[in-house]
Amino acid sequence: MTTQSPTLELLRKHGRRVTPQRAMILTAIEAHDAHVTAEQIYERVRAAHPYVNRSTVYRTLQMLCRDGLVTVTDLGAGSVQYELHRDQPHHHMVCQQCGTVAELDHTLLEPLKVVLKRRYGFKAGIEHFAIFGLCARCQGIVKKAKRTPAKRAAAAGAHRSS
Ligand SMILES: [Zn+2]
Ligand SMILES: [Zn+2]
Repeated sequence: MTTQSPTLELLRKHGRRVTPQRAMILTAIEAHDAHVTAEQIYERVRAAHPYVNRSTVYRTLQMLCRDGLVTVTDLGAGSVQYELHRDQPHHHMVCQQCGTVAELDHTLLEPLKVVLKRRYGFKAGIEHFAIFGLCARCQGIVKKAKRTPAKRAAAAGAHRSS
């Protein structure tokens, strides 16, 4: 593991201790270009460090979420998905019919945050949000080329790396 990793820079920037566990897990998440499940993270960590056990990975992952370095979202794929925290939050529209996951503009949720605070005194932690529904194609609004199962799996972030 390299100390030049942008992820480890992030850790230091947040004033966090760079423990070997944290470094391993952040590097594993970083290796994925999108969302990744805890099990996928574990598989990747284990490939490089066979002595690490599952509970260490899961516990460290929870810690990283609590510290805001990693965000977690339920994208409806059966298990929650992890992602490195980005400077600009992003959110998803998840189609419950075809499984397509699209990003939506963060600025759209800012007014919601304000209203929740004003009306309910609730400080919403909207940094990685998923909204479920039907995409334009599944509503029959847009007719496009046929969807393949492989595409759907990739869109849901359920791709396997091994
Ligand atoms: Zn995301
Ligand atoms: Zn759809």
